[in-house]
Amino acid sequence: MQLLEERIRRDGKVRDGNILKVDSFLNHQMDVKLFGQMAQEFYRLFHDESVSKVLTIEASGIGMACFVGQAFDCPVIFAKKTKTKNIAGDVYTAMVESFTHGGTYDIIVAKEFLNSSDRVLIIDDFLANGSALSGLSTIIKEAGATSVGAGIAIEKAFQHGGDTLRAQGLRIESLAKIASMENGKINFC
Ligand code: 5GP
Repeated sequence: MQLLEERIRRDGKVRDGNILKVDSFLNHQMDVKLFGQMAQEFYRLFHDESVSKVLTIEASGIGMACFVGQAFDCPVIFAKKTKTKNIAGDVYTAMVESFTHGGTYDIIVAKEFLNSSDRVLIIDDFLANGSALSGLSTIIKEAGATSVGAGIAIEKAFQHGGDTLRAQGLRIESLAKIASMENGKINFC
């Protein structure tokens, strides 16, 4: 999506450890007009999939996912991050490795919000090694629901999470795919 690539070129900042900061329009301050345009693109890509739920992960996926939910006219669920190992109640859980902070954490979704009749579109801001996406896919499988695929704002293709998950059969549509970010210069695929 050219609009997003231009914005990344203009406002994105490359940090140590292959981190791209997009805090001025995606992850901290949010450009809601851009979110609306991105949601329309996801709608164009997935509109014939009878999406019944949008699933994302807190916190930075939530803003964009809300616009996607509006486009598909369906509820938006965000998986909650938790450090509690003894999770009480009826929840689906999966373990995720944190790309930005290191370590692992569990994500949970209450069983009452996801069931076997759901057709789920995953939405997230970044795809790096694929752990977040893999955790969300696990939760969809646990629920017996159908995953129609994942809509990602920015895929860092040099980190190969996308390759692995596509090879496992997951449809992934990324609006901006970064081939490399060496010496602070961003090259798109
Ligand atoms: P993965 O699980 O695919 O390794 O990483 C995806 C998650 O890590 C995303 O949900 C996002 O929050 C975070 N993330 C990964 N790479 C970046 C990055 O370059 N910049 C920012 N801001 N977040 C990232």
